[in-house]
Amino acid sequence: MSIAFIGLGNMGGPMAVNLHKAGFKVTATDLSADARARVAAEGVSVSDSAAGAVSDADVVISMLPASRHVEGLYLGEGGLLATLAASVRVIDCSTIAPETARKVAKAAAEKGISLIDAPVSGGTAGATNATLTFMVGGEDAAVAAAKPLLEAMGKNIFHAGGNGAGQVAKVCNNMLLAIHMIGSAEALNLGVSLGLDASVLSDIMKQSSGDNWSLQKYNPMPGVMEGVPASRDYSGGFGTDLMLKDLGLAEEAALGAQTPIPLGGLARQLYALHSAGGNGGLDFSSILRMLQKA
Ligand code: NAD
Repeated sequence: MSIAFIGLGNMGGPMAVNLHKAGFKVTATDLSADARARVAAEGVSVSDSAAGAVSDADVVISMLPASRHVEGLYLGEGGLLATLAASVRVIDCSTIAPETARKVAKAAAEKGISLIDAPVSGGTAGATNATLTFMVGGEDAAVAAAKPLLEAMGKNIFHAGGNGAGQVAKVCNNMLLAIHMIGSAEALNLGVSLGLDASVLSDIMKQSSGDNWSLQKYNPMPGVMEGVPASRDYSGGFGTDLMLKDLGLAEEAALGAQTPIPLGGLARQLYALHSAGGNGGLDFSSILRMLQKA
């Protein structure tokens, strides 16, 4: 099976490498020459254009930043859907608006092409270690056909429902992630301001009712946990601007459903302030810096 992988950033790069390691024939591409070079160094074939990457593909996988990139790649005159054969299966792993996922899937279906949304959770460590969780939206047959590929990149695959359902699950999950990251940063910063050691406080909260994923896997306080963005100046990881995008998706979806998300809305404002302060490129756990005394 021949796979075209489009978007080789923090997540897509290691995902493409894992497919290659699992024995699939992968041709990968990205707008960035550096990103292409990183996966080429791992033995993956690269092409300098999406059109080149998909030329003999049975499956196209995309991992792009946001809705507009996915629409740009697939729709319109120069979009891939105009040229792909109906036998090609498409898996979009980007986190985008549920509405956009449904729009792109509908346009694909009109050409006889099956397209599923399969956003992920698990961060860059999950992408590197092939332990991602996939939240999938699409028809049963298309989801079943995608499973062996998703299993080469992750360990939990949930079929959430029809097209767009994977994105709904992802938007809800990331809103909760933002809220408990801010809460964890706030609690740790308060403890440190009151004289506690951040590692001691983290250990206590991990065994108490304040326990959550941010404390277990992604501590935002530098020096508490090895190998997380906080311990490398908040580089790599999941960018503040990507979290801000996801919180925007949550607000947009909540508005459409007329459902209140007071903490999600506040989290969005806090991340917008953090980004406006010039921190958009830092990992999202750097929100702790906004709370710290100068
Ligand atoms: P990233 O910004 O590191 O990478 C995106 C890549 O897409 C870049 O290398 C960019 O050059 C490339 N790109 C953009 N438009 C393109 C196009 N038209 N053709 C080819 N390449 C193109 O982002 P990331 O962290 O890898 O995240 C990708 C997606 O995964 C986002 O939707 C994000 O919300 C989601 N996500 C990220 C994480 C994380 O921890 N980083 C976790 C879960 C989900």
